[in-house]
Amino acid sequence: MHCHLCPHNCVISPGREGVCRARKNIDGVLYSMNYGKLTSLALDPIEKKPLYRFYPGSLILSAGTFGCNLKCSFCQNWTISHGTPSTVDISPSALVEKAVELKDEGNIGIAYTYNEPSIWFEFVLDTAAMAKERGLKNVLVTNGYIGKEPLTQLLPYVDAMNIDLKAFSDGFYRDVCKGSLEAVKQTVETAAKKCHVEVTTLVIPGFNDSMEEIEELSRWLASVSQEIPLHLTRFFPNYKMKDILPTPVDTLRKARDIAKKNLRYVYLGNVW
Ligand code: SF4
Repeated sequence: MHCHLCPHNCVISPGREGVCRARKNIDGVLYSMNYGKLTSLALDPIEKKPLYRFYPGSLILSAGTFGCNLKCSFCQNWTISHGTPSTVDISPSALVEKAVELKDEGNIGIAYTYNEPSIWFEFVLDTAAMAKERGLKNVLVTNGYIGKEPLTQLLPYVDAMNIDLKAFSDGFYRDVCKGSLEAVKQTVETAAKKCHVEVTTLVIPGFNDSMEEIEELSRWLASVSQEIPLHLTRFFPNYKMKDILPTPVDTLRKARDIAKKNLRYVYLGNVW
């Protein structure tokens, strides 16, 4: 079986899974193994996604499943992205009903988040279509590593996206994440034409923290739109990068000053 959902374009033999572990060839049929499988559900502030310029002060019902199509050594959610977490079954209509019930508490919709939502594609598409009909917002918090065709299919239902731009070097994407920068840039460009987009970069000491790279990244983002908010977030040791120290706050402040020359909104994250 050939899966075209993301740029890995996996060829999957019978009984095997794709790189993301969410899609499997069972007797010659490609199955979405995480359809309706929930690992996490919480009513979060929208700023936690992070989205700072999309219904600020509101809450959003946030749902996640398991699996990921990138292999970032610094993964902050590795237990659900790369582990084997327990799951609870939920249908698209049940998730939408839950979101509607929470409207009175300030909920504006559903965020597909925590692990990578693009590899939850069929479930997100079915749920987002129903949610939109019920007047709810749909938000994707994504690594942006998705094929152009599935992205185009999803975008009519998506109101906002936070897209990780993990670095501005293809070497980083290839070596640290097992992906490619170009595919993510294309997602940012395509999505920015259709919905509200904010971008997040986790600044990791010694990997993507040179001021030249921040300058290049912010200049490119400004070429898409100067209005796209950029979140520069602080790295803390995690997963396979436990030996790297947290990002000095001073580095983040310098990076913000540089990015602010190109972009209107630059925020620091994980800094108290
Ligand atoms: S979605 Fe999963 S199975 Fe499909 S191409 Fe990407 S990594 Fe491979």
